[in-house]
Amino acid sequence: MTNQPIVIDGSQGEGGGQILRTSVALAAALGKSVRVVNIRSNRRPGGLRPQHLSAVQAVARVCHARLSGDQVDSREILFEPGPVESGEYRFDIGTAGSTTLVAQTLLPPLALSGGDSRITVTGGTHNPWAPCFEYLRDVFGLLVTASNVEVYFELERAGFYPAGGGRLRMDVGALDGWDEMDPFRYAERGQLRYIEGVSAVSAGLPAHIAERQAAQALGRLAAADCAATIEQAAWESDSPGTVLFLRAVFSRSAAGFFALGQRGKPAEEVADEAVDQLLDFLNGAGAVDEHAADQLITLAALCPLQTAFTTRRPTGHLRTNAQVIRQLTGRETRIEGPPEGPARVVLEEAQ
Ligand code: ATP
Repeated sequence: MTNQPIVIDGSQGEGGGQILRTSVALAAALGKSVRVVNIRSNRRPGGLRPQHLSAVQAVARVCHARLSGDQVDSREILFEPGPVESGEYRFDIGTAGSTTLVAQTLLPPLALSGGDSRITVTGGTHNPWAPCFEYLRDVFGLLVTASNVEVYFELERAGFYPAGGGRLRMDVGALDGWDEMDPFRYAERGQLRYIEGVSAVSAGLPAHIAERQAAQALGRLAAADCAATIEQAAWESDSPGTVLFLRAVFSRSAAGFFALGQRGKPAEEVADEAVDQLLDFLNGAGAVDEHAADQLITLAALCPLQTAFTTRRPTGHLRTNAQVIRQLTGRETRIEGPPEGPARVVLEEAQ
């Protein structure tokens, strides 16, 4: 497939890795060539890090793309996709880079590939600044079902930052074409049904950490009049780490929040971090949380019908992603509402 590449400036808005991931994910899914310049200009160090390189190379593999500039530190790539091929693929990031972000980058092209796929990605499954595995499965994965795209995630092995060594599996039941896909229409969250969570430690760390994270979170939530159940777990892992993940399930939506442990950080502080985010969401409005907003809009670009949903608050990631989607698809995107939120996100019908 040869066509004039669309040039995407990686320094716009957030100026981070997401611009690159959205560009290659949609370029592959829509069969458009893309040149991404000034990659990760707002980050230090800028350019491609192993995690971003893995995402780009993974997408290139599933769509037989011609790719140049794909080296660590590179600030520019040219990505010319071929046809997307469903099937079984294994990728190893080689560092603790986020497996969840690589999986999310592969989803748009595989979702419309016409065949089923199984992807295994090795790296980090619980990283700061990226969706943790439970968020991917229980929030993103759940919200995505409204589009008819079938996706199923499994944690084969936990991998905490910075050591990594985790393994994530993603099964995609592809649609035959965009006309089988429904647009996201999350206008309201509806009524709160329940709050649940998991408090986990990697095996080798004392179980009382998971108990203390859970107890602190339950205490804080009870004080805010919120009933919740939190499961405790000890996971096999090559990397030491802890996580507290909380999910609020509503009649029309779901939202999720997590915090990670680290040496010297008390278990109670980990719990407080996750609970504060959840309470902020409960005290606000909008159907989906701020992270789901920037993640859903990328997939929404595959469906030519109008997408509209509301979110707790607009972020730089959401604004930047909406801008990149506009550049790649020519479709109008709007983020309406006050800067502090809630916001209504609209991706207009394709012309
Ligand atoms: P960078 O260039 O900053 O190194 P990156 O490639 O790791 O960036 P970003 O461009 O910052 O990533 O994008 C991070 C993605 O992870 C976004 O989609 C964001 O919504 C998501 N994310 C970050 N934190 C969370 C969280 N706590 N829960 C769910 N998703 C998250």
